[in-house]
Amino acid sequence: MSDKAASTQVAVIGAGPGGYAAAFLAADLGLKVALIDPEVNPGGVCLYRGCIPSKALLHAARVLTEAREAAHFGIDFAAPKIDLDKLRAWKEGVVTKLTGGLGLLAKQRAVDYIRGEAAFLDARTLAIKRAPGGQGGEERLAFEHAIIATGSRPATIPSLSLSSPRVMDSTSALDITDVPKTLLVVGGGYIGLELGTVYAALGTRVAVVEMMDGLLPGVDRDLVGPLGKRMEKIFAATMLSTKVVEMKEEKDGVRVRFEGAQAPAEPQVFEKVLVAVGRKPNSRVPGLEKTKVAVGERGFITVDLHRRTAEPSIYAIGDVAGEPMLAHKASHEGRTAVEVIAGHKVAFEPQAIPAVVFTDPEIAWCGLTEEQAKRENRTVRVARFPWGASGRAMTLDRPEGVTKLLVDPESERVLGVGIVGSGAGELIAEGVLAVEMAALASDVKLSIHPHPTLSETVMEAAEVFFGQSTHVYRPLKVVQGRAGL
Ligand SMILES: Cc1cc2nc3c(=O)[nH]c(=O)nc-3n(C[C@H](O)[C@H](O)[C@H](O)COP(=O)(O)OP(=O)(O)OC[C@H]3O[C@@H](n4cnc5c(N)ncnc54)[C@H](O)[C@@H]3O)c2cc1C
Repeated sequence: MSDKAASTQVAVIGAGPGGYAAAFLAADLGLKVALIDPEVNPGGVCLYRGCIPSKALLHAARVLTEAREAAHFGIDFAAPKIDLDKLRAWKEGVVTKLTGGLGLLAKQRAVDYIRGEAAFLDARTLAIKRAPGGQGGEERLAFEHAIIATGSRPATIPSLSLSSPRVMDSTSALDITDVPKTLLVVGGGYIGLELGTVYAALGTRVAVVEMMDGLLPGVDRDLVGPLGKRMEKIFAATMLSTKVVEMKEEKDGVRVRFEGAQAPAEPQVFEKVLVAVGRKPNSRVPGLEKTKVAVGERGFITVDLHRRTAEPSIYAIGDVAGEPMLAHKASHEGRTAVEVIAGHKVAFEPQAIPAVVFTDPEIAWCGLTEEQAKRENRTVRVARFPWGASGRAMTLDRPEGVTKLLVDPESERVLGVGIVGSGAGELIAEGVLAVEMAALASDVKLSIHPHPTLSETVMEAAEVFFGQSTHVYRPLKVVQGRAGL
């Protein structure tokens, strides 16, 4: 850390996966960089209170579930003893190791990591208030280019806000201070379902309420189907087309009143409530009004293909710059902005940004989806390979998955891939490569996949496209844009 950093070529505001990836690449390209964030080390939401802690807890949940389900093939474990303090310490240890590693990488690259909060004084200068944990005080930093990577925060429902430790957001839910007997998850999006899965595995009776008529609104229904069936088993209740209209704290919990298609007739009391109704971009960076940076209707900073804002010296990336709000999208945008600053001819134009829901089973997809094909009136062939025909899925006792490819019938190019099943999040990487490399279904079909693996389901889905899958006979489904199915 430096007190003298009065000017820099690139100032990156926010050290999440967008900001630190940008700062590290800028340093690798020989630029002078400052990276500003209130935390002791880089990491942002993703490492401190998002992707990493949630996946650590989901791993623990998976171990518990697999141990319970081993009874299916004749192995009975005794009931697990859960040491919550140890589990929490392990999860926090993972976060500390990773963020400490990033701090070290910043030092090795001579990135000037400034622990504090940045505000714009104008389109070339920042005022940085040093975080209390740092040295305190304020400093000015002149920059040639700034990258805003301030991320996002949990959305709230003002009419339902209740200031009580019983009402959690994703950040406090990850603290797992206790295992409540009952938990209501408000919101059937990925964060609510992932955290609901953790608490259910630890022994909480979890109920989920979702305003829309299905879990994971907007996600391919083919993929949500198998997950929905399993959720029925692990959650005590799933209320769809239903919303929470009132929450009141009582001595033993939070009394919740519901309205909608599956609303219970009487209010219900839950020991805890997790509100997971989406995230809001942190676009109210202090002093931003002193620049020409524009913020759109949904609160995202408006950027072009180069991630440049309306102010030529200022870029914006990651959650603050638009959907999808995902860590890997943030990193790639950050690297694009830096390359543009370095004078390279690049733009952020991915064909396939993968999305993964780390529930059990996992759901993952990339590229074109069926919904999008219908909306855009595009004809695609959908080749599905059910995991019931996969030897590997059977040996894992997880035959409920599906792998599907969306293929252009004329060029035979793979346009999109969707997978539901155990480990879908790892498998989707092959789909990303296929879509980005403009692979043909025959490329995927002819690439020899190792046996017995779940990756074979991708190859066999390509075989299904040609009506030649070894392990399944299934006619093709044609999505015909406006004409429907
Ligand atoms: C529970 C949960 C689970 C998630 N799981 C996944 C997952 O599995 N996979 C995935 O891809 N995504 C996941 N996400 C989303 C992911 O965390 C975000 O998409 C990602 O962190 C966005 O990165 P970012 O760089 O845009 O910003 P962030 O990670 O949000 O970081 C922004 C940083 O900027 C700092 N900052 C804000 N204002 C200022 C300022 N004025 N000055 C200095 N610093 C400032 C913030 O303190 C923060 O540290 C999850 C999110 C949550 C909440």
